[in-house]
Amino acid sequence: MHYIVLDLEWNQPFSKERAVRLPSGRLLMSEVIQIGAVRLDEERRIADHFLSAVAPRYYRELHYKVKQLTGLSGKQLNGAPGLAEAAEAFREWCGEDFVFLSWSNMDLPILLENLELHGLDSGWVGAWYDLQQIFNVQTNSTGGQKSLTAALEQLQIQIDTPLHDALNDAFATARIAQRLDIPRGIREYYQRGELPKGQLHKDAQGRQMCAYATLTGMATREQLWREPRTRALFCPECGQGLRDEGWTPAGEDGYTTWASCAEHGRFLCKLRLKNLKRSKWTAALSVYTQEEAEKPALLLPPKRRRSRGGRRGKGTARGGAKQK
Ligand SMILES: [Zn+2]
Repeated sequence: MHYIVLDLEWNQPFSKERAVRLPSGRLLMSEVIQIGAVRLDEERRIADHFLSAVAPRYYRELHYKVKQLTGLSGKQLNGAPGLAEAAEAFREWCGEDFVFLSWSNMDLPILLENLELHGLDSGWVGAWYDLQQIFNVQTNSTGGQKSLTAALEQLQIQIDTPLHDALNDAFATARIAQRLDIPRGIREYYQRGELPKGQLHKDAQGRQMCAYATLTGMATREQLWREPRTRALFCPECGQGLRDEGWTPAGEDGYTTWASCAEHGRFLCKLRLKNLKRSKWTAALSVYTQEEAEKPALLLPPKRRRSRGGRRGKGTARGGAKQK
């Protein structure tokens, strides 16, 4: 597996009133104008780089702040490829078997948003990790946001090229990545919690789970969903990987799939993605045997069905008080 260190530069609307609405209903606040990336191999050696300007389609006039920061001009971008072409070239360059690293948790959501806006496939954009978060943990730095410049200074890395150019920033970020333990950072990025057999509870329909796990640590729902470990399923009997039959959306925040173990049969797996404490997204996975899943739903008294907030606490907080 290799690492793609990604940095984007983007343009912004002159005001919220003039912003374009995305298919999802959100406003487009960042339109990509430059894609820069550096490939690190497994030993975290710099192996290759990528740079493409992107001609904006919606915000053609560069915001003065963006001009100032990036040194780019509207003229330079006019002749550049559009997003479809640039993204396709980038996708090809990325190849297979990689994860994204970026300085901050903004670049990948912005890339996805821009792909969505242009109706382009984003299935190839897999897992990503905010290097800033890994940096903070591994250098015992407190405080959330840290500028690239501050991090370079802290690690005493000399950069001779000006920042706020997508490729220069990607190179600088890659230099930081080389000084960190990235495999460990990725392992620790995501915390997995499991409930032992004795503590497994029933779902709202009264069906007994045979496994329950939570996975937390991602800043966005999309990041959590694209993380391969979120959807990795294991047989509750033997621990071997289960083969899923394809996730389908269920409700606003959930997905379900049937998955099978060659030896122990089929299981129903339900995943719920929730934004819990401190803006961390959590996936809660519950697994049911086929027999349990196919039982008719138990009708629970309406009172308990309403107290959704307290269900986690297993018998506690049945009243109005919200659990933290
Ligand atoms: Zn099994």
